[in-house]
Amino acid sequence: MKITVSVIKADVGGIGGHTRPSDGLIEAVKHTVKSSGDLLLDYYIGYCGDDVHIVMSHTKGTDNEEIHKLAWNAFEAGTQVAKEEGLYGAGQDLLKDSFSGNVKGMGPGVAELEFEERPNEAFTVFAADKTEPGAFNYPMYRLFVDALSNTGLIVNKSLAKGVDFHVMDVEDATIAKLSLWEDKPTLEAALMYPSRYVISSIHTKEGEPILSASTDRLHNIAGTYVGKDDPVCLIRTQKMFPATEEAGSVFNNPHYVSGNTRGSHNMPLMPVKLNSAATINFCIPIVESLVFSMHNGKFTGPFDGFSTPDWDHIREIATKKAMAIRSQGFIHPATLVPDELEYAEGYNDRMSILKSKMKPMDSKTTSDDRKENYEDPD
Ligand code: 13P
Ligand code: MG
Ligand code: MG
Repeated sequence: MKITVSVIKADVGGIGGHTRPSDGLIEAVKHTVKSSGDLLLDYYIGYCGDDVHIVMSHTKGTDNEEIHKLAWNAFEAGTQVAKEEGLYGAGQDLLKDSFSGNVKGMGPGVAELEFEERPNEAFTVFAADKTEPGAFNYPMYRLFVDALSNTGLIVNKSLAKGVDFHVMDVEDATIAKLSLWEDKPTLEAALMYPSRYVISSIHTKEGEPILSASTDRLHNIAGTYVGKDDPVCLIRTQKMFPATEEAGSVFNNPHYVSGNTRGSHNMPLMPVKLNSAATINFCIPIVESLVFSMHNGKFTGPFDGFSTPDWDHIREIATKKAMAIRSQGFIHPATLVPDELEYAEGYNDRMSILKSKMKPMDSKTTSDDRKENYEDPD
C-alpha cells in the first residue's frame, strides 16, 4: 500500500520565552487533529523546545491540501490558546493570515515522503530547535558518505552504490541533484557552508525515497531567504536504507551549528529526550529522535531514540562544548557573521554609529602608500 508520512511543525508559542509549548497549547493541537474524521490513518503530536511537530500517515500523497490545512488549523487552535495564556511568540510561525492550499511558504516546516510501505516499515523523525536546516548537513554526510562513521556504506549493497542528494541553495532558491560517488567533492563543497546549502531530500539510485527535510520556508516566503527555521527531517531506516542505530549514531559528535539565543550564535547540537524544553542555559541547540514502526499506516512508537544512558554522556560532551564556546562571549566565531544574525537591527544601529565615526586615514599611512614604499628584502 502506498502511504505518505507527513511531518509538519511550527512554533506557535512558548512558556515565558522560547522554551516549550504549554500543555493547553498541545491539547488544542491534538484536539483539532483528532477531530479530522478518517482523513488520517494515524498521527502523533509532540514538541522539541518551542516547536510542535505533527507526524501523520495517510494515503493522500505529498503536498496534499487537506492534510496541510488540517495542520494549519491545528496550529491556529494552538495559537488561540497561546494568546489566551499570554505565551511568548503566540503564532510565531504562522506568517500568513489565512490558509491558501499548502503550508509551504506560510511559516510551518514540512518533511514528507510517499512510498510503498514495507511489511515492517521503520522510520525516524529528527526534530530540532534553536538551529537551522543546515544543522543536518554534518550528520547526514556521516550517514550517507563517511564509511568511518557508518560501516553500512561498505557492507550494505544499496548504500555502497551511493545515493542521490538534493541540495538547496537557500539564497538563490535553486536545487541541485548530486549523485554519489561521482559528485562527492562537489557535495562536500556544498555541505561545507550549512547556512547557504542544505540537504532537502535523499533517494536511492533507483529513486526510492529515503529522506526528506523541512527546507521550504527558507525560500518560499516572498521568494527570498527569510532566515533560520528550526528543522525536522524524516528518514526511512533498515534493509536497503541505513540501520536505525546508524542514523542515530551520527548525532553522537555534537557539532557546532548556527542558531541558539537570538539565532545569533554557533553552539553544539545536543541530542535530547522526547518533548524536552529548550534549556535556558543560553538555549543550546537540541535535537530529538522519534523512532517509529508502521504497518498499514498505523504507528507503533515513537521510541525515544536519545533516551538510553549512553546519550547522557553525549549530552555532557555537548554541554562542555557549549560552555567552551560561550567562554569567548560575543567574539566571532561564538557569534555568527553579520549576514547570518537573525535579529540584526541592533547590530546595524551599532555599525552605523561606528561608520559615522570612521574618518579617512592619514594619506601617509594608506595601504597604497605602504605598497609603494615597500622594498622587497630580496
Ligand atoms: P525560536 O526560533 O526557537 O523561536 O527561538 C528564537 C530565539 O531567539 C531564541 O533566543
Ligand atoms: Mg520561539
Ligand atoms: Mg524553536
